[in-house]
Amino acid sequence: MKSIIVVLVASVTSCASAAARPVTAPPPETIAPGVTLLRGDMLPMRGPDGNTVVFEAPEGLVVIDTGRHAWHSDAILALAAARGKPVATIVNTHWHLDHSSGNGRIKAAHPGARLYATAAVDRALADGGFLARNLVAQRPRLEDPDVSAAEKDEIEIFVQTMAERESLRPDVVVGKGGLRRLAGRKLDLRVTDRAVTEADIWIYDRRTGVAVVGDLVTLPAPFFETACPDQWRAALDEVWAVPFRSAIPGHGEPMSRVQFDTYRGAFNAFMDCVTSDAAPQQCAAGWQAGVASLLGDERMRRMALGYAEYYVDMLRANGGRSSECRPGPG
Ligand SMILES: [Zn+2]
Repeated sequence: MKSIIVVLVASVTSCASAAARPVTAPPPETIAPGVTLLRGDMLPMRGPDGNTVVFEAPEGLVVIDTGRHAWHSDAILALAAARGKPVATIVNTHWHLDHSSGNGRIKAAHPGARLYATAAVDRALADGGFLARNLVAQRPRLEDPDVSAAEKDEIEIFVQTMAERESLRPDVVVGKGGLRRLAGRKLDLRVTDRAVTEADIWIYDRRTGVAVVGDLVTLPAPFFETACPDQWRAALDEVWAVPFRSAIPGHGEPMSRVQFDTYRGAFNAFMDCVTSDAAPQQCAAGWQAGVASLLGDERMRRMALGYAEYYVDMLRANGGRSSECRPGPG
């Protein structure tokens, strides 16, 4: 019944049955004046879409993350059409494909859009890198009769994104954090020294108090495939140190400060458990209990437990971090 997770590139196989739900674009939700959330979904048997946050700026829209599926990027394009504004800027919080596969479709419709991201994607795309390796591993599964049609559909999306991989590379490499003017609107871009990936971006908007934190916060569980958990903890502390009012996670609902701190506490407790001798089930149960107030329905509670247990073993096999986590320059 264990979840086998390759969420970053293609598929989630869990004990859930295939989706009977119709797939529709997420409706836009205003979370602050001039700031709109398009929720990423997490459908059974499908890879997730990360949340998208859109800032209205004098020169067009600033789109934070672009999802994986066409229905998600369609929602971004529909929002731009409804506002009568071009997408001027895209920011990828990190290179995981549930946040960046839509780049190509957005850019095709809005050729003036410039992508801001860290250079971490270059290593993931390079020979032997995470994405390059997974492409080699996933491609034969398209011919495997035991792989479901939904999963093959997800793998096709991955293969297609890799065929257009230049759309994942930044037009503007964000090397260090600071206040930037994006499409004429000031936004504070912060860059992590490792965390979810080798370098992630999170955004603090002083004007509205909104922090867009990408997968530093992810429910039902953090996705640790490319993580350096020690630096991830430090990044959560850095977010906590800014006076945000609302944090928008990479997956899940907008959070108050209290809710963010609940997540931060559960994350730290989970990593403390991973680096102890406790049984994986105990660490997973602790995670599920720690974020209980942030999880929605029974399916989310089950997924929290399944993912957390899976990650205990994965992290322990690599000394408490992912195999992608490299020592820093210091
Ligand atoms: Zn994600």
